Amino acid sequence: MTMPLIRARGLTRIYSLGGSEIRALNGVDVDIAAGEYVAIMGASGSGKSTFMNMVGALDRPSGGSLVVDGAELSKRSPDQLAAFRNKSVGFVFQQFNLLARTSALDNVALPLIYRGWSAGKRRTRAEACLEMVGLSDRMQNHPSQLSGGQQQRVAIARALAGEPSLLLADEPTGALDSKTSDDVMDIFDQLNAQGITVILVTHEEDVGARARRRIVFRDGNIVEDSQ
Ligand code: ADP
Ligand code: MG
Repeated sequence: MTMPLIRARGLTRIYSLGGSEIRALNGVDVDIAAGEYVAIMGASGSGKSTFMNMVGALDRPSGGSLVVDGAELSKRSPDQLAAFRNKSVGFVFQQFNLLARTSALDNVALPLIYRGWSAGKRRTRAEACLEMVGLSDRMQNHPSQLSGGQQQRVAIARALAGEPSLLLADEPTGALDSKTSDDVMDIFDQLNAQGITVILVTHEEDVGARARRRIVFRDGNIVEDSQ
């Protein structure tokens, strides 16, 4: 059997808050293969974002094992985690997190500096990614000149630009109306059809129904997995 892209065993994250402990993840076991399209669902506070932050190496487990793309993340230093994140993971957030006084093109191209690419290569790649999300004609616009859906498409282009093995989206349509949300979800569908592993958190049933696998969290555990 080949190693899955993600393998969690007893994955735990405990937050200390005012002297008490919050078990945000309470011993999660899960395998996710390369190329899967997964919706993470569950009530607010159930551990969805904590799980995404572990998998994307934004934060480190308190216990258990987490292997992503061949790397045991629980044993890595902060520098190694940053290098892993930069190479292997693309993130999309609910609030887009774009640089305000910066063109769509530069929002996508700037993070590629960390890949050590030349300015020309960064620009070419950023243009290709913006074209992929249907924004060829908006490359010079700043975020304030774009609709919410367009801003989220810039954020998706930015997430894709470094050719990650994994695309993580935490409530990517949470700030969008339903029509715009459908358009943005069409892009995730296309990216997965091209072979990119997509894991997205959502509260919305119709968004979750797009994925081929549905994992439900409750109180820091997986309580339902359609696989
Ligand atoms: P979800 O994304 O499903 O809404 P989270 O993963 O954000 O849930 O949170 C899971 C639990 O961990 C919640 O009880 C939340 O309050 C707690 N939590 C999340 N982040 C922190 C933090 N930085 N410090 C303390 N508690 C946190
Ligand atoms: Mg969350």
